Amino acid sequence: MSIKEQVKKHPESLVAKAYRFAEQAHAGQKRKTGEPYFNHVLATAEIVSDWNLDETAVAAALLHDTIEDADKDPADIRREFGEEVYFLVDGVAKISRVKYRQASAQVDNLRKLILALSEDLRVVLIKLADRLHNMRTLAVLPREKQKRIALETDEVYAPLAYRLGMHSLSSEFQNLAFPFLHPEDYRKLQQVVTKEFIAEQIRYLERIRDKLSEFLKEHHISPREIKFRVKGYGSLYKKMQKHQNSFDRVYDLLAMRIIVSDVAECYAALGVIHAAWPPLPGRIKDYIAMPKPNGYRSLHTNVIGPDNKIIEFQVRTTQMEEDNELGVTAHFLYKQRGGSMSFAKQESKQIAEELRIVRQLHDWQERLGNPEESSDDLLEAMKIELFRDRIFVVTPRGDVFDLPSGATPIDFAYHIHSEVGDTSTGAKVNGKLVPLDHTLRSGDLVEILTQKGKKPSEHWLAFAKTGAARGRIRSVLRQKRSGTLLSSALHTEFKISGRDRVGLIKDITSVIARARVNILSVNQQENAGRGNPTIRIVCDVSDPERVARLAEKISTVASVTEVTHHAV
Ligand code: MN
Repeated sequence: MSIKEQVKKHPESLVAKAYRFAEQAHAGQKRKTGEPYFNHVLATAEIVSDWNLDETAVAAALLHDTIEDADKDPADIRREFGEEVYFLVDGVAKISRVKYRQASAQVDNLRKLILALSEDLRVVLIKLADRLHNMRTLAVLPREKQKRIALETDEVYAPLAYRLGMHSLSSEFQNLAFPFLHPEDYRKLQQVVTKEFIAEQIRYLERIRDKLSEFLKEHHISPREIKFRVKGYGSLYKKMQKHQNSFDRVYDLLAMRIIVSDVAECYAALGVIHAAWPPLPGRIKDYIAMPKPNGYRSLHTNVIGPDNKIIEFQVRTTQMEEDNELGVTAHFLYKQRGGSMSFAKQESKQIAEELRIVRQLHDWQERLGNPEESSDDLLEAMKIELFRDRIFVVTPRGDVFDLPSGATPIDFAYHIHSEVGDTSTGAKVNGKLVPLDHTLRSGDLVEILTQKGKKPSEHWLAFAKTGAARGRIRSVLRQKRSGTLLSSALHTEFKISGRDRVGLIKDITSVIARARVNILSVNQQENAGRGNPTIRIVCDVSDPERVARLAEKISTVASVTEVTHHAV
């Protein structure tokens, strides 16, 4: 049911109220196309409604430009529509206010998005819907504005949609942005991939679909649906760039999607496909057994079809298809199907939590407050982590971590714990020893080897990929430099004897910590029979004066009888 129909049917609903408020607020305003401005907010709200968001979100989508573009008082919206709608409208307005120009504004924009994302996903989803409608109608804007909006869409919104699991939205963004970003390449590509060529491919795919239906029927598989597509210009261009501009290496120009009832049928259908057309070696991907980090599940294979054309087949269940297409919004759908139509901020937060994005976001947020972090570094880290493909690796205990593709054992080590990262010496991948700069692959079983007292090395920065690892390495190196400015990088071992008592080690280590000296290791040696232990503590300190002062302080701890020290 369209929003207009909904409004007619339930004139007292929240959506209807928002409809009238927005219509009045934008009265007389025209878009560049000449049509009423209200059409834009209505279209945005239709998209939000198509994504199965609740009526609070649909109302907020209708109101999303009333503050920025119609000068409505935010207080009015709060009074008329309540706290929740106001929060969403205000959130969208905040994101819109940031213009995307240079790197610093870019970070700021991302930060606002991220804040909104961790606070309430609906803010971001409304913004994505707003952007989608603006992109669909971008042609009428002035050249400069087109470029800026297309760039922002390509660099921020398309990857974000991907990360949220909204795959068709992500590629629609790419395809819509492409002609404005690379008009020259777009024209060239149109000459290679002509309208006639595309029409021909579609006829080809129709024939393949009919054959496939027959084959599947022979094997008693009745697919729910078979769809196909020819890759759009924008995503085609992206793919070609990855492969030295070669058209021949784009294996998914033609794609066929088979939707079946259950997982067993997925594998059965894959077998049927491979029996009909030879698969390309090494191109079978099982994202059902190993889903992508954003939750994507499907079987993929590339086969050599008639006339030596390469076709990508994607096989998945109805449920997977829904999850893959709707991404995060599928969660909203399930919630609503579950009976309750209400949807609180808290639940939206939980979904973000489930996506495991939030923890990363808060890490960035903290780092944004750190003046030592340059915005370029941070931007780079965000781009890598939010916007790139991820891999899955497994710990010896069977925990699965997702890391950016290209990650090394050092990233994995820091992902487990900063202490593990700092002290790592090497790694075993699938039982074999590898150096720390080894590139990890999805499905690898990784075990980190550590050595007590070890410190990060400068050269780790050459291959550490995650922001978390790089940030930690940099900060430890910084501490190291400022702590040992005057002396060579030696450590000191303190040997402490004394009467054993509860809390002795804790008291000693807190004295050391208060002197701002790093403890590298603590060992306690039981002196058999004599009752009194010897405590050995290696510290990151070598300046003789500081060492002497520290030894003095340690000797004042209750029940300590003797303190000696030597360089190690
Ligand atoms: Mn708008």
